[in-house]
Amino acid sequence: MDERTYDIAIIGGGPAGLTAALYAGRSKVRTVLLEGKAPGGQLLNTELIEDYPGYLSITGGDLAVQMTEQATHFGADLVIAQVNRIRVEPDGMKVIETDEGEWRAPAVIVTAGGNPRKLEVPGEEELAGRGVSYCAVCDGAFFQGEHLAVIGGGDAAVEEALFLTRYATKVSIIHRRDEFRAQPILLDEAKSHPKIEFVTNVVVEAIEGEGRVHHVKLRHVETGERIDHVVGGVFIFIGFIPNTGLVDQHVAHDPGGYYTTDAMTMMTSVPGLFAAGDVRAQLTRQVTTAVGDATTATIAASKWVEEWHKGRADVAMEILESASREGGWVA
Ligand code: NAP
Repeated sequence: MDERTYDIAIIGGGPAGLTAALYAGRSKVRTVLLEGKAPGGQLLNTELIEDYPGYLSITGGDLAVQMTEQATHFGADLVIAQVNRIRVEPDGMKVIETDEGEWRAPAVIVTAGGNPRKLEVPGEEELAGRGVSYCAVCDGAFFQGEHLAVIGGGDAAVEEALFLTRYATKVSIIHRRDEFRAQPILLDEAKSHPKIEFVTNVVVEAIEGEGRVHHVKLRHVETGERIDHVVGGVFIFIGFIPNTGLVDQHVAHDPGGYYTTDAMTMMTSVPGLFAAGDVRAQLTRQVTTAVGDATTATIAASKWVEEWHKGRADVAMEILESASREGGWVA
């Protein structure tokens, strides 16, 4: 094996990728984790985490540092390189093309997360960085004393609106329905917060301002009434687009572009290609579910690689399934 050929390559260094590196390292499988920026993923954009077991409260940055230390402690290599494409060769070997050259591995675990969904309204792109933001932790402090708009009705919108109350005089949560996907515990907190107001059943038609955000143009979905809602900044949290476009062949996915995997093994429709975390189709996307997926994916990938080396990649899946049926295995 040359120094750029590994048994398992992990794409992305968020909580799922770091957990995969931890498990692969402990299993003594030769593993590389390729990350385009700094490891930590969305943890780095999260102020406080209160729903990761073992910590009543921890900052995203501190959890990222601890997960990174633990991930490399057992021998996985961490490489900073932007992955551009994953090529699948006829024998099942995967070639990972990056800005820093190529890496090879028969098993790949994609933990590449995704990017914020855009509203795609006039003004959004032009005013990005001039009042339009997708990250409250990164940009919130620039909006001291402002009235802010948060767009969306999921956990991210409500959680980030609560965070922004530290800086803003007022935060309007603007949502296209009057029902929310956000967890009731977050909603209750927001509803009783003196700085938060809810503006519901409206869609954003445009973000306007001369060189800087001045207002969002809203249309009521029932009455059709239009108003200019004056704000100093707009934070958009309307979901997520998974980074699932890297593989050079078709990988089964749901309508949102999330990989559909085997629930027992996290293997995608491409043999030897596994997925964990926010790229995978599932009910929810939490740090806890990402690390759980990654654990399963890594143990399954290790077994798959073992069989691939014996020239039995075709029966590897069968072995994985029967091991699961018989009560699983211990790494
Ligand atoms: P989400 O749950 O998918 O919610 C997206 C929100 O944006 C929905 O309210 C949706 O409205 C709205 N939306 C989507 N497209 C829109 C558009 N074009 N215009 C206006 N509104 C639009 O996304 P998320 O809040 O980013 O959360 C993603 C996942 O991460 C979830 O599984 C969530 O539980 C998890 N998460 C968890 C935490 C936590 O537990 N602390 C924190 C953040 C995120 P509709 O409801 O009308 O579709």
